[in-house]
Amino acid sequence: ISSLMSGKRGLVMGVANDHSIAWGIARTLASHGAELAFTYQGEAFGRRVRPLADSVGGKLLLPCDVEDLASVDGVFETLKAEWGSIDFLVHAIAFSDKNELKGRYADTTRDNFARTMLISCFSFTEIAKRAAALMTKGGSILTLTYGGSTRVMPNYNVMGVAKAALESSVRYLAMDFGGEGVRVNAISAGPVRTLAGSGVSDARLMYSFQKRNSPLRRTVSIEEIGGTATYLLSDLGSGVTGEIHFVDSGYNIISMPRLDELKA
Ligand code: NAD
Repeated sequence: ISSLMSGKRGLVMGVANDHSIAWGIARTLASHGAELAFTYQGEAFGRRVRPLADSVGGKLLLPCDVEDLASVDGVFETLKAEWGSIDFLVHAIAFSDKNELKGRYADTTRDNFARTMLISCFSFTEIAKRAAALMTKGGSILTLTYGGSTRVMPNYNVMGVAKAALESSVRYLAMDFGGEGVRVNAISAGPVRTLAGSGVSDARLMYSFQKRNSPLRRTVSIEEIGGTATYLLSDLGSGVTGEIHFVDSGYNIISMPRLDELKA
């Protein structure tokens, strides 16, 4: 165990199972000495998250559905009562109706647009505000985004629009909280096989396209995302805020498939 995060306490939101990006981040933070609290969405997920939290010594495990603001407030009241203050927060939460993660963006419905935006974008603002209030010694806040925010990815649709708004939120919140020494950043991860990831139609094809065409010629692991998260959440990242940091094997820099791939 390194001591990079020792003495630091934080909340990780968005572990559904051991494939979750939030779990890769949590395990890496714990291996560097962080003390963690977790939230879970509903009892079915709770049963899966409990043994994971136990395995990294996480004692605080709290229910939270971001559609229910009272449950969000409950989490931060408990954190305040138990810990007094926190040092970091991870928001790895997104949702959209998978019937709209295929076909045309133009066919997105009003109801799913609003729900996608609330869960995948505005929840971050509500949570970051409550977290920053508990960061009395400064702190670091992180969310997860995807490159479908600025470039068109097949089937990503309304989620791309929500991620664009989420990334913009990162910049506004970085300015809002910067005076209090609270940093706000996002990791833009390459495709990972998770529950949420599999909701996007043909996710498998995007995964293999990235594998063949990114500079590193592979996808990223949740541990690699965890490593970058740990840097941003630790004092090593103390000069970084408002940043969208790609952890995607370099995929975002390419403009077309590799020629040897095209010729193959
Ligand atoms: P995941 O399914 O493991 O995690 C998604 C989490 O969102 C789950 O824990 C789920 O409980 C939570 N969630 C959904 N609706 C919620 C609600 N109403 N209240 C509380 N929690 C809710 O999938 P993941 O891929 O690890 O997703 C984590 C984050 O990473 C998401 O923001 C996702 O968009 C982002 N991301 C994923 C990929 C990928 O390819 N998987 C790539 C880039 C970014």
